[in-house]
Amino acid sequence: MSFTDNDEQRALRAAVADLGSGYGYSYYIERARSGGRMTELWQEAGKLGFLGVNLPERYGGGGAGMYELSLVLEELAAAGCGLLMMVVSPAICGTVIARFGTDEQRQHWLPGLASGSKIMAFGITEPDAGSNSHALTTVARRDGADWVLSGRKIYISGVDEADAVLIVGRSQDARTGRLKPALFAVPTTAPGFTYQPIEMELVTPDRQYLLFLDDVRLPADALIGEQDAALAQLFAGLNPERIMGAAMSVGTARYALGKAVSYARERIVWDQPIGAHQGIAHPLAQVKIELELAALMMQKAATLYDAGDDKAAGEAANMAKYAAAEASVHAVDQAVQTLGGSGLTREYGLASLLATSRVSRIAPVSREMVLNFVAQNSLGLPKSY
Ligand SMILES: Cc1cc2nc3c(=O)[nH]c(=O)nc-3n(C[C@H](O)[C@H](O)[C@H](O)COP(=O)(O)OP(=O)(O)OC[C@H]3O[C@@H](n4cnc5c(N)ncnc54)[C@H](O)[C@@H]3O)c2cc1C
Repeated sequence: MSFTDNDEQRALRAAVADLGSGYGYSYYIERARSGGRMTELWQEAGKLGFLGVNLPERYGGGGAGMYELSLVLEELAAAGCGLLMMVVSPAICGTVIARFGTDEQRQHWLPGLASGSKIMAFGITEPDAGSNSHALTTVARRDGADWVLSGRKIYISGVDEADAVLIVGRSQDARTGRLKPALFAVPTTAPGFTYQPIEMELVTPDRQYLLFLDDVRLPADALIGEQDAALAQLFAGLNPERIMGAAMSVGTARYALGKAVSYARERIVWDQPIGAHQGIAHPLAQVKIELELAALMMQKAATLYDAGDDKAAGEAANMAKYAAAEASVHAVDQAVQTLGGSGLTREYGLASLLATSRVSRIAPVSREMVLNFVAQNSLGLPKSY
């Protein structure tokens, strides 16, 4: 086991950092404020093979793993221009289709997801089923060979950018009549599929949507993977989601810490830079430690995932996501504090991160639900809900 990147991973990191530095936070925030998207960065990252680095070579991907994909997102976020849709399109949807799709489904989706020419959003959350995904009410019924899907989804990111949404619904077991999870690729142009933006107090180029699925008719091959193994398939996609959530947070923490440290080195209030005061230096050192620990757990989770150990990866991915979210919230808060009044100005570009870094404590899985997972699964404590 290695605790450091190998030569190829180091080269990938450097190439992505180079791409990110050409865009940076100024590009990200300009797109966010003008209601635009980060299309140029997305396309360039796709062309360079960064978006599909985890997908099989046979379908246009790079043939590497989640370690490499998370490294790409970490570096872009560290440059101030993290691509949220990477968490969803190549990580969740690409993984699920690569692992469980038919050859036709792989041929249809993966080359586009890898090159970035196709984007797939992911819809699990419902108005009455957020943390409690057992309460999902989006239902798929069979009508001849077709599926007919009805339900509502909320907070779904990037639907306006997407060609399709991988919807987590439920279908009826033919034998028992019980409803069980099933995954469907739903084109955003399908009749009966409509969506509207949710007004969020987040300044980001990727927006969240409310989805309405009103008797959306889908062909038989819209079902991704086995109807009977949907839960295992879902978890195979959610572990990459958590690893990528951690990557976004680690990158954001690095970005904020970098801003704070360069300010602390130069800003003189008394007769030496403010970084000489332990009241400024120690919290930044603490952030550095927290973010290195989170990155290490993220790399462990990705390594386990790439080795095919879904169960161990699940525990590590939850822990990584928790640790990275906490590190990024602390990093941004401490960066704003380090800059004093400048921390709240547009010029220094930190204050808007107060809200966006906070997302990582809630999505894709909340801090409390990670703690529940660890309490029950790692510690064997009883379930309270
Ligand atoms: C910016 C953003 C982007 C998102 N993108 C997507 C997306 O692309 N696709 C998608 O499907 N979803 C997406 N989500 C939804 C996200 O996954 C949910 O918001 C999240 O899972 C929490 O669900 P909820 O908001 O319904 O909160 P709720 O489930 O209503 O929970 C509210 C609070 O209660 C706590 N709580 C609930 N149950 C327990 C318990 N048993 N023990 C302790 N505490 C508990 C929660 O931790 C939380 O703090 C996004 C959300 C945001 C904010």
